[in-house]
Amino acid sequence: MTAANEANLLERVPARLFIDGEWTDAAGGRTFAVRDPATGQVIREIADASPEDGIRALDAAVAAQDAWAATAPRTRSEILRRAFDLVQEHKEDLALLMTLEMGKPLAEARGEVGYGGEFLRWFSEEAVRIAGRYGLNPEGTGRMIVSQRPVGPSFFITPWNFPLAMATRKIAPALAAGCTVVIKPPELTPLTTLFFTQLLVEAGVPAGVVNVVTTTTSADVSGPIIADPRLRKLSFTGSTPVGRKLIAQAAEGVLRVSMELGGNAPFVVFDDADLDKAVDGAILAKFRNIGQACTAANRFIVHAAVAEEFTRRVTERVTAMPVGRGTEDGVQIGPLIDDKAVAKATELVADAVSRGARVLTGGNSIDGPGTFYQPTVVAGVPAGSAILSEEIFGPVLAIATFTDEDEAVRLANDTEYGLVSYVFTQDLARGHRMIDRLETGMMGLNVGVVSNAAAPFGGVKQSGVGREGGLEGIHEYLSTKYTLIPVD
Ligand code: NAD
Repeated sequence: MTAANEANLLERVPARLFIDGEWTDAAGGRTFAVRDPATGQVIREIADASPEDGIRALDAAVAAQDAWAATAPRTRSEILRRAFDLVQEHKEDLALLMTLEMGKPLAEARGEVGYGGEFLRWFSEEAVRIAGRYGLNPEGTGRMIVSQRPVGPSFFITPWNFPLAMATRKIAPALAAGCTVVIKPPELTPLTTLFFTQLLVEAGVPAGVVNVVTTTTSADVSGPIIADPRLRKLSFTGSTPVGRKLIAQAAEGVLRVSMELGGNAPFVVFDDADLDKAVDGAILAKFRNIGQACTAANRFIVHAAVAEEFTRRVTERVTAMPVGRGTEDGVQIGPLIDDKAVAKATELVADAVSRGARVLTGGNSIDGPGTFYQPTVVAGVPAGSAILSEEIFGPVLAIATFTDEDEAVRLANDTEYGLVSYVFTQDLARGHRMIDRLETGMMGLNVGVVSNAAAPFGGVKQSGVGREGGLEGIHEYLSTKYTLIPVD
């Protein structure tokens, strides 16, 4: 990967807002810098939207809504399918862009292009299958028609950790359902959304249907959009504290909301587990995306009888993980997103150690340039350690032990979060019991990654409301309408 390649790609990213089919400057021509977390260098200056720009974007989405809702489902489907094809054609550009602005290893960025792109294909297929029903009421006096209508103009706020997939997972179902969109990408990684928007235009998305506002003042720009009575839907992916605030703001207008929030996934290894699979699963569930995934395994809860062997084997693997800039061959651990993320990992490990946990490998930040933290294993983590209750969002694998199934369930459920859980056991009946007993929206049984465009992604408890992907995903953008026609 040459520096010239990188520079050429960055130059091809449109650096402006996208409103009503036009690339436009922010009011007052304000801009902000986007940095590469592996080097700390500025890689691009882009438009910094004001609240007025946000409302201009909503105006465009509102103006485009009726015509977009009236397009034939097949038309919307074919536009999404073309967008899927264009994402495949630009796979290398999109992957490199994500590595440059977010830091993930290039191989993983390519994986995200695959995963993120699938939402375009999946919802192109769902756009033509929006069904209703028809029947007589039980009294036989009325014909009941139940149909599905697009919810209307929708506002999306997305996080920095999966720059492409978090955008496609919202935009694809909304467009398939006939909704228009304003999206506010994350300030730390906005370039991928801007590049992807060009592809949507090339695929035939009409003016006003997708509008993009990049900004450093998220709350100021989002507030007036959410408060505007013309908005019908808010979909957010990000942290639980910000999600709570947004739900409160959305309550004023009684908006439909989808909230994909934080996680604190338990990774439970029983004494009857296949340890080869458990170790492979652990490495994936923990270190994918440098540990910066809402689905990242946060707490390893391992049966005392296998804890020593499991710990020895994961520690060997973690010690050998190459760390570096994500563009370098073979790198498995790139930088964390910023200094705050490094400080958080440092504090969580220090707190666990002060309570008696042992660092088996890693345990330190790495001097700059860039915001790196060593891949780390911490064992013997006692109850009450902050690392067990907070999202680590970094490459730190924390191990606690248990001795019976009830204790494992109690520990796994001992969190306000409920996004995903991972369970390793070869006992089929126990596996089924865990499906019933673990309070999470998703579960991996003997596997360390569950995400798939065809599956409903989402959490229970304070991990969120609603589902993205699967048959369920399009219903976040549809409202049910019931009509009664009397039988003469
Ligand atoms: P964050 O909550 O800080 O920010 C998310 C987005 O919200 C960003 O675009 C940010 O600019 C914006 N934002 C922040 N404060 C705002 C406010 N007051 N008003 C309006 N917008 C505001 O989260 P993050 O650090 O970008 O992402 C990491 C978090 O996201 C983690 O908690 C992770 O678990 C979660 N996440 C969840 C999922 C999921 O599907 N459940 C997926 C990815 C990430």
